Order: sequence, then C-alpha cells, then structure tokens
Amino acid sequence: MGNYLHNRVLKLNVGFLLNAGPGHSQDFELDVPTVKLADDLVLSYVRGPVRLSRTKEGILIQAQLHTGAQDECYRCLEPVERDMMIAIEELYGVNQQVDSDFVIHDDGILDLAELLRAEVLIGSTHRVLCREDCKGLCPECGANRNEGDCECEQETIDPRLSELKKLLNRQ
Ligand SMILES: [Zn+2]
Ligand SMILES: [Zn+2]
Repeated sequence: MGNYLHNRVLKLNVGFLLNAGPGHSQDFELDVPTVKLADDLVLSYVRGPVRLSRTKEGILIQAQLHTGAQDECYRCLEPVERDMMIAIEELYGVNQQVDSDFVIHDDGILDLAELLRAEVLIGSTHRVLCREDCKGLCPECGANRNEGDCECEQETIDPRLSELKKLLNRQ
C-alpha cells in the first residue's frame, strides 16, 4: 500500500529543551502528511499547534491536533476518513521514576506516535457513517444500496403493514 512516511516524523528531538532547564518552552506547528502509526492505523494528516514545556519531571506536551484516520462506514463498510480534533496534554517523564505513561527516550526523543495512537483509538470507538443517509448493505444479497437497488424484494419491513397487505390482497 502507498508510500507512507515512517512514523519517525512523529519522533521529536527534545534534547535542547531538556538541557535548557525548567521554565523553557517551545511552540511549533505540526504538519505531517500520511503517516502509519500501526499496521491497522494510518492517519491521512496530522496538523496543529504544539507546545513543549520543560518541567522538573520532563516535557509537558500540549497540542490541538486535527487528524484524519482511515476507517470504514459501519453500515456499508466503504472506506471513510474520520476527521478528529484531539486535545493533548500529557507529561513525558525524563526517566522511569516519573509517574507518567510516557517516557522520553535516552537519546532525547519524545515519541508522539505512541500518544497519538492511544488518543486516536479512544476517538475511534464512535461509529462513523460515509454519509448521513447511507443506505447500508442489503441483508439478503450484501449489495451496497447506495449504488442502486438490488433484485431482492423490499417488502415486509413493518409486520403490521404486511398484515394489511394480506387483507387487501384477499379482495
Ligand atoms: Zn456507508
Ligand atoms: Zn439484495
């Protein structure tokens, strides 16, 4: 599949900030094209302002990221892009002693991919539709009803209506 950037682009070198000491911070704009976070997780883009602040414990990252995750419509199973806003505020500890889920690697690398992956997975628990009025798949033949009607009979949706039909057919 395609040319994905290695998720190396989400490895931020924060060595300079670590050395600068507590109280220093840096702002920048993240703008990453298609990136693969895992075998089953590809983001079409990741954009938004990021602030890295050196604290005593490590680096606090604050960001408002706009991202698009590749997903599928839950009715018709066609691929859809799920747009998400992700608000991040997370401490990356300088070492294992810091009470944090994320740790800065020994080489001064803060790996944003791990955090992003967790956030996107949380956001992906909601169902997504390719469009508001997606007709879904035919339960009989599996045809995508958005692409036209299939040969299956579209009757007996409402049992009360079908009873009424029987009565009418008697005459
Ligand atoms: Zn759909
Ligand atoms: Zn059908």
